[in-house]
Amino acid sequence: MDFKNILNIIYKDCSRIENHGKIANYIPELAKVNPDKFGMFLLTNENEHYEIGDSQEKFSIQSLSKVISLTIATELIGQDLWKRVEVEPSGTPFNSLTELERDKGIPRNPFINAGAIVVADVLLSVLDNPIDDFLTFIRKLADDDQIFYNEKVAKSEKDFGYRNTALVNYMKALDNIENEVDDILNFYYHQCAIDMTCEQLAKTFSIFANSGKKISTNEQVISAKSVKRINAIIQTCGFYDEPGEFAFRGGLPGKRGVGGGIVAVHPKAYVVVIWSPKLNTKGNSNLGIHALEDLTNLSGLSVF
Ligand code: GLN
Repeated sequence: MDFKNILNIIYKDCSRIENHGKIANYIPELAKVNPDKFGMFLLTNENEHYEIGDSQEKFSIQSLSKVISLTIATELIGQDLWKRVEVEPSGTPFNSLTELERDKGIPRNPFINAGAIVVADVLLSVLDNPIDDFLTFIRKLADDDQIFYNEKVAKSEKDFGYRNTALVNYMKALDNIENEVDDILNFYYHQCAIDMTCEQLAKTFSIFANSGKKISTNEQVISAKSVKRINAIIQTCGFYDEPGEFAFRGGLPGKRGVGGGIVAVHPKAYVVVIWSPKLNTKGNSNLGIHALEDLTNLSGLSVF
């Protein structure tokens, strides 16, 4: 497959598009990013890579981190996790409070904020040093020690995190939270506030394209069965209230973050990361979805 040529075509196509998206500003620190950045990094299971634009520039991974926290939690506590969080698409925005009352404090899935906060609570209970251990796990997956928390982003989110505070308090009232609210939110805001490049993210997420094995070393990090399950949740819940549109256009399981990152996985073939900070009205990277649609159309490599 001539990915080099395909990525060049995508780059040209995306630079021609008038992007009416808006950068996320509910976390003030994120609003400082240059909205016109665009990067893409594709890594195949044969360990070949292709990149364009700002693929080596770090950005805030935000909700992309929720896939990694879910991975650690499923490895460490297994089936018990599913007593505290479901695996159904929510059809509502990532920070919605509405269905939590109806569902008696059990979040619809681990990627909406309520679900990711439950997962953070689980990790707080089982890890010795959650903040250190989380970063160590990501660095190991990425084969890269140059990955850090962005303390300014974590603080900015904490200062304005009223909805997340409401979610965690409500779940605590309904007995689905074990640890102290402030400790959970501190960990959750840190996991979201990691800065990474498209390349570092592609390496980290490559286990989901390669049946649980790191592409660089072939080391089995998680089982192929876990990968099947997590990819299913990525496909159905990774885009909150826009999974249908994303599957329709992008054609791959994908997760997005409000920093403008999208990670998409073609199981058994490749992982691709796209970063473009301007978001559509549902909070998803406008150009990111466009670029992925181009990629799966031009290559013919989609899961559908
Ligand atoms: N840290 C963000 C929040 O909790 C993550 C949101 C996202 O990327 N969807 O609001």
